[in-house]
Amino acid sequence: MKAAAFEYVRATSLPDALRELNGAKPISGSQSMGPMLNLRLARPGRVVDVSRIADLRSVSEAGEVVRVGAAVTHAEIEDGKHALLRHPYLQHVASGIAYRAIRNRGTIGGSLAHADPAADWPLALSALDARLELSKADGTRQVRVSEFMLGAFTTVLEEGEIITAVLLPKLGTTLRWGYYKLCRKTGEFAHASAAAAFDARTGLARVVLGALDGPPAALDELARQIAQRGPAAATEDALTQAVASAMPNADGIDRQIHAAALERCLAQAFGLANATTA
Ligand SMILES: Cc1cc2nc3c(=O)[nH]c(=O)nc-3n(C[C@H](O)[C@H](O)[C@H](O)COP(=O)(O)OP(=O)(O)OC[C@H]3O[C@@H](n4cnc5c(N)ncnc54)[C@H](O)[C@@H]3O)c2cc1C
Repeated sequence: MKAAAFEYVRATSLPDALRELNGAKPISGSQSMGPMLNLRLARPGRVVDVSRIADLRSVSEAGEVVRVGAAVTHAEIEDGKHALLRHPYLQHVASGIAYRAIRNRGTIGGSLAHADPAADWPLALSALDARLELSKADGTRQVRVSEFMLGAFTTVLEEGEIITAVLLPKLGTTLRWGYYKLCRKTGEFAHASAAAAFDARTGLARVVLGALDGPPAALDELARQIAQRGPAAATEDALTQAVASAMPNADGIDRQIHAAALERCLAQAFGLANATTA
């Protein structure tokens, strides 16, 4: 199938984009939007391409955080193109997204806005407790990544509002992290996924489960116990309970698969024997 006719506008600046967005749909890497247009699951009359806006393509330090423009691609993060994003956690996550051709065009902001429950960035950035900068014609606001996604393919974005940046905490060598994505073939969306981030320097302690029916679920009690007592707190019972509370309506097999992803993610974070890099 081919897309229905639509008008294409390439924005050259943020004010230009915000003006043009009135009643139009933003498009960035087009890796999700392209198929949706071709399948006619989306039929916007006009799309506004935000992928060439310099402000959305740049990465900079902004006080305590690193400001990552929403149109930075997965491949740029994988390749360590931006010095401020050269961290094994970010590079590991980026390199596991889809195939290289998709990573070359797909963007961090597009991935978050698309809000696929099985996607990588909503999970990985929630574990870092990152924030998003959202802009529309009458101003800018910030939201936590963990509060951005409301459900499958549904976010807090309002009409005419776009993600302009991800605000990341600065990642250093003190970050203990784990990221495990279970999929049958490399390059597929996750069937189960989990991310963990602990940093004694900043007090960050987050464990998040992904590939659920809705947004990733923070396992706060488990994270608190691990931060206090170390990885010994991640007993089989504790993991089973945490997974059950995050996916109460799932069947036993699905829960078990998520529990396995969680166990492997924590093993990676704490250098335990059952860690795997898959
Ligand atoms: C075969 C295949 C496999 C994939 N596998 C994975 C995977 O394993 N893991 C994973 O995480 N993803 C995967 N993806 C998705 C891929 O990462 C996409 O690049 C990403 O989801 C969307 O990014 P994009 O920049 O291409 O956005 P687009 O396709 O351009 O847009 C997607 C949606 O976001 C909106 N949007 C785009 N940019 C903005 C913005 N700045 N502000 C507000 N709204 C915006 C658009 O209006 C649209 O609704 C896969 C995609 C394909 C086709």
